[in-house]
Amino acid sequence: MTHDCLILGGGVIGLSIAYELACSGARVRIIDRRQAGSEASWAGAGILPPANQQTAVHPLEQLRGLSHALHPVWAERLREETGIDNGYRRCGGLYLARSVGEAASLHALAASLADVEIEMCRITATDVAALEAALAPLAQSGELAAAYRLPDEAQLRNPWHLQALIAACRSRQVQIDDDVEATGFHVRGDRIHAVITTAGELQANCYCLTTGAWTFALLEKLGVETGILPIRGQIVLFHAQRPLFTHVLNEGPRYLVPRDDGRVIVGSTEEEVGFNHQTTDEEIGELTELARRIVPDLREAVVEKTWAGLRPGTFDGFPYLGAIPRLSNGFVAAGHFRSGLHLSPGTARVMSQLLQGQQAEIDLTPFRVGRG
Ligand SMILES: Cc1cc2nc3c(=O)[nH]c(=O)nc-3n(C[C@H](O)[C@H](O)[C@H](O)COP(=O)(O)OP(=O)(O)OC[C@H]3O[C@@H](n4cnc5c(N)ncnc54)[C@H](O)[C@@H]3O)c2cc1C
Repeated sequence: MTHDCLILGGGVIGLSIAYELACSGARVRIIDRRQAGSEASWAGAGILPPANQQTAVHPLEQLRGLSHALHPVWAERLREETGIDNGYRRCGGLYLARSVGEAASLHALAASLADVEIEMCRITATDVAALEAALAPLAQSGELAAAYRLPDEAQLRNPWHLQALIAACRSRQVQIDDDVEATGFHVRGDRIHAVITTAGELQANCYCLTTGAWTFALLEKLGVETGILPIRGQIVLFHAQRPLFTHVLNEGPRYLVPRDDGRVIVGSTEEEVGFNHQTTDEEIGELTELARRIVPDLREAVVEKTWAGLRPGTFDGFPYLGAIPRLSNGFVAAGHFRSGLHLSPGTARVMSQLLQGQQAEIDLTPFRVGRG
């Protein structure tokens, strides 16, 4: 059988596109050089910050808004289709500042979110302690320079979300092949004729590269340069005996994400160290200490696990979404950096429109593949 679309890379982006395509009746195959859903998409924290589709002007904000609106719908649909709860919760977020500089950035963020009608309310240290008893020691320490609450911040449990996507894809006849690596292409005229893989040459009507941080090398083989590079992020997973707090806690680029079962994900770092998945004692120690300073009860919790993942960063902070220059049947969706889980349903929607020869509902010019 010739597939309508061969997707290279089974992370959240490839799986979401496959799911969306399969929902509209397309025959889809995914290959992954490891196991689908085992790289950055598994390693992430699953924070879904608020966004507003109605007021969004820039295409990136529109993509965020669309994705944010789709997440609860997808969570419900995936649960109905697979019986798997992906852990989507509108748990709210608290943004905390312990220095004057961090407080100033929060005030600026609140002003910019107010412009696009996203609620970010300033709260007092007393409110913080009332909302989250686990933060009472921090609130009473006098260290808090500012605090805000974002009621529309949500989270999902990304490993569960990936399991649900894989199950939903399979039930819609998407063929998912693990341990198959794409290594090159045969191009004839303006078309990819076949992908060369470790399982032989594979053909389809069109091809979509969703190989995350590894996309640069594959696109180079097609003579296209992109600014995609791996950015390592480290995570510490605590397991407390009971849930200690309910909001996502954010401080600068660091965060603590509470799961319903008492686990807490603490992240993360941004490191340019190539394709290196190792954790380091220094960064893990720093994240552990930060978490225990913000929530002292975590001193009683065990550190269950630590890991690192490779985010697909880009030189300008925008993902690459669209057709590969000079090719009529080759497309890319990669480079979502810190937001790939959040942006995945919107990306799936616009990419499936492109892959089916339709006009994408969002202007994808800022994300064009030939830039930079
Ligand atoms: C520590 C950390 C925290 C994060 N937190 C969040 C968060 O809270 N919210 C959020 O929205 N995002 C978060 N992210 C970012 C998010 O995880 C990524 O943006 C997203 O997972 C990217 O998805 P992807 O499918 O493009 O990449 P990946 O998940 O990396 O998938 C790419 C896939 O391609 C496969 N592949 C690579 N090369 C080949 C090849 N040649 N042939 C076949 N297959 C290949 C890989 O094996 C992999 O499975 C976080 C990331 C990290 C690391």
